[in-house]
Order: sequence, then C-alpha cells, then structure tokens
Amino acid sequence: MSYDDDNIFAKILRGEIPSMKVFEDGETFAFMDIMPRSPGHCLVIPKTPCRNILDASPAQLSACMATVHKLANAAMTAFEADGITLQQFSEEAGGQEVFHLHFHILPRHAGVRPGPPGIQGDMDEIKANAQKLIAALGE
Ligand code: AMP
Repeated sequence: MSYDDDNIFAKILRGEIPSMKVFEDGETFAFMDIMPRSPGHCLVIPKTPCRNILDASPAQLSACMATVHKLANAAMTAFEADGITLQQFSEEAGGQEVFHLHFHILPRHAGVRPGPPGIQGDMDEIKANAQKLIAALGE
C-alpha cells in the first residue's frame, strides 16, 4: 500500500482545505475532528507522509506521541475531563478512512460513551472547543 498525496489530511497540510488548527510544531500538526465523537475530539498527524502505523518511521511516531501527550493533558484541563481515549486505525480492515497517519484524542467523562462516528458536528461548538484547547495549551 502506498501513500496517496491526494488524501484529505495531505490537503489540509498543504493548506488546500481549511482546518481548525490547535497546535503545530516542526514535525506535527493537530486540529479538530469535524465529526467529533466527544466534545474536544482532535487529531494529531505527522507533517511528513505516511499512511498509518504500519509504514510510519520511529521518528514520525515519536514526534506524534510527544504532541499527543501535550494535547491529552491540555484536553483534560480544557474539558475538565475524567480521562482520554487515544485511537489509531490502520488500513481499511482496521477501520481507517483517511490514509495519512493520525491519532484521535477523545476527552472522556465518566459514564459517557463516545458518540457514533461520521456525524458532522456543530462548527461553532467545535470552534469554541478548539479555543479551549488552545487556551489550555498556553497554560
Ligand atoms: P479514521 O481514518 O477512521 O481514523 O477516521 C478519519 C477521521 O477524520 C474521522 O474521525 C473524521 O471525522 C475525520 N475527518 C475527516 N475529514 C476531516 C476534515 N476535513 N477535518 C477534520 N477531520 C476530518
């Protein structure tokens, strides 16, 4: 399986389609999932191409994990969360739909199940949640 430059996250990285960025460093980019399964659901991706966990380099994985760690802690603060679910899907059979490596960060509250995937969120609410995450990252 090879990397397809036309995937939607590659387009986001090139600035060809908009995204709600919450964090960026030299190696990684983090932005809001527009079909959030919990309030504050965001995604962390490497800036360099790879399909998923199977072809990622150790450097790509470790850069993503450093950003996941930052965002997970910021999400705990921003959403007064009780916990975090970290998800990563590789290949279609593994549940992957966008073929650029990404990690899902879902802030969780005790006793509340994540919503179903594939449902467009309220963009104003997602924007407000992005602001909360950005503020918590700055603390
Ligand atoms: P998966 O490949 O199964 O891990 O899922 C891809 C994720 O990307 C889903 O949670 C989608 O809601 C999300 N997604 C798809 N398009 C966009 C987009 N343009 N901006 C932000 N998130 C997206």
